[in-house]
Amino acid sequence: AQVLSRLDLNRYPIPTYTELKAVLRDYAQIPEDKDIMLGNGSDELIAILSQAIAKSGETVTVLAPAPSFVMYRLSGMLNHLNVVEIPLNADDFSLDLDAWLGAIREHNPALIYLPFPNNPTGNLFDEQGMRAIINAASDSIVVVDEAYQPFAQVSWMSALNEFDNLLVMRTVSKLGLAGIRLGYLAGHPALISELDKVRPPY
Ligand SMILES: *Cc1c(COP(=O)(O)O)cnc(C)c1O
Repeated sequence: AQVLSRLDLNRYPIPTYTELKAVLRDYAQIPEDKDIMLGNGSDELIAILSQAIAKSGETVTVLAPAPSFVMYRLSGMLNHLNVVEIPLNADDFSLDLDAWLGAIREHNPALIYLPFPNNPTGNLFDEQGMRAIINAASDSIVVVDEAYQPFAQVSWMSALNEFDNLLVMRTVSKLGLAGIRLGYLAGHPALISELDKVRPPY
């Protein structure tokens, strides 16, 4: 309450949020040469990703596992995207790599979601399989959604140094701060700056 009393809440916040980015870079170990975009929760970042890839009169495909986080599909549908869901293997909820590589060849997707850990199954997908997908989809944006990363001991953040088409998305929601609405997306500055054109200013 004391901190809030010192804030100029009658003013819009600084839209470049430099200080918060620096704190998040340190906390999440985001590589120095990668940029960060904030959202009102990662749900807004998913909406921005959908808007950014949508094209009038053209089929734009998004790939996601099923079952996984429902907003990939809903946000895609709202933006007239072709959302293709690839069923997880029924015995252990792992990725069906042949199906993924086939779908990448068939659809040339603009965007791929890989939640890590997955929601709602709670498992981590195999690292080699994810690498094979990111490599096969070098023309696609691949978002590793780490909303539940606070419950895992691993992260794809350092892999941003290896793949220019990779974005790592985080949120403070699942570590107990869902009410403050803070999600963030890290990746290559050229990619973040294009997505940032779609972001509402505050
Ligand atoms: C909860 C969740 C989100 C969205 O979280 P926000 O509250 O909008 O930050 C995104 N992805 C996954 C996998 C989630 O579980």
